[in-house]
Amino acid sequence: MPGGVSSPVRAFKSVNGQPIVFDRVKGPYAWDVDGNRFIDYVGSWGPAICGHAHPEVITALQGALEKGTSFGAPCELENQLAEMVIDAVPSVEMVRFVNSGTEACMAVLRLMRAFTGRDKVIKFEGCYHGHADMFLVKAGSGVATLGLPDSPGVPRSTTANTLTAPYNDLEAVKELFAENPDAISGVILEPVVGNAGFITPEPGFLEGLRELTKENGALLVFDEVMTGFRISYGGAQARFGVTPDLTTMGKVIGGGLPVGAYGGRAEIMSMVAPAGPMYQAGTLSGNPLAMTAGIKTLELLRQEGTYERLEATTKRLISGILQSAKEAGFSITGSNISAMFGFYLCDGPVRNFEEAKSADAQRFGKLHRAMLERGVYLAPSAFEAGFTSLAHSEDDIDATLKAFSESFASID
Ligand SMILES: *Cc1c(COP(=O)(O)O)cnc(C)c1O
Repeated sequence: MPGGVSSPVRAFKSVNGQPIVFDRVKGPYAWDVDGNRFIDYVGSWGPAICGHAHPEVITALQGALEKGTSFGAPCELENQLAEMVIDAVPSVEMVRFVNSGTEACMAVLRLMRAFTGRDKVIKFEGCYHGHADMFLVKAGSGVATLGLPDSPGVPRSTTANTLTAPYNDLEAVKELFAENPDAISGVILEPVVGNAGFITPEPGFLEGLRELTKENGALLVFDEVMTGFRISYGGAQARFGVTPDLTTMGKVIGGGLPVGAYGGRAEIMSMVAPAGPMYQAGTLSGNPLAMTAGIKTLELLRQEGTYERLEATTKRLISGILQSAKEAGFSITGSNISAMFGFYLCDGPVRNFEEAKSADAQRFGKLHRAMLERGVYLAPSAFEAGFTSLAHSEDDIDATLKAFSESFASID
């Protein structure tokens, strides 16, 4: 296996470490094959918002398993999850299920082009939209973590249609529209960036993109694969009150099984086959196991007070992290929204990927190792957001903050 892993960031290359091989996960914890327990702030990179292996999700899955793992035909569970997504996410009137966030983003890009009849797309530096060819331009996540150039094997003819701008820079987007009249199908972005660390939209940025796309006959697409059902039940769009035309989802809506989805205005989604001519398909799409995990996870999340609890837990965590770094004399900037957080070892503010890159990656590597030694598992990258869950208790946060305080004191 290349690098010993099935997905690059797991290899710990950027923190000068060796991958940890996990044996099992439960609640806020992960155990490695040597029996070490870690308090986990990766949460399978986002899905584990109710805590790993939640008993109700497991019980529901056991029930579904008895009825078979894949039908290759419609199942009622798809309708149930579709209704829940449509009820929750403001932009979504129709939805199509796929098997990963990458797939959702690939399909949504094709749909943007099919609907507008235009080929170009604007993305932002440091945003990650899966590993499809057209998106591997100044991408975030593992591409940023490993400092890779835009990937070989991606034809120049493909990425010629991908335009990029710095995050939080409306003027740059305006210029791209002016330079490419009637050629841009739309703008895709992470409404809160989790794949270049943790960058929030400045006031007016999302609203400005909404106006600019409308003025130019282009579509606005929120990639909510990470933020969906995490920033709030209705995603970042509900939280910020800006409704895009189309939305991609993944991670949380699969409750730990492989799921992605894209949806939006019915007028646009009706282009998707077989309702319309834009082709997109999947053998295992909408399978009963994945739908079951998604439904049960959303049921748990929509209970009263869920997001208030997640906000309180996460706020206490990030405040403690900032404080202990400062006590150790280190520059740090960081914040959270709901159950998503991040910090950079540099002076703030960090408004885009260029500024994020000024964070001290060497020091982050040392911190990462020191935290592992103290039983806390952070994302092995200075450019990935952290995730909390409903399973993280006050005691877990206390133990984590103690580890941070000791770790910052132990490194240079
Ligand atoms: C994780 C992620 C993806 C890709 O999803 P996969 O399921 O890993 O293919 C796309 N966009 C964003 C914003 C993500 O965080």
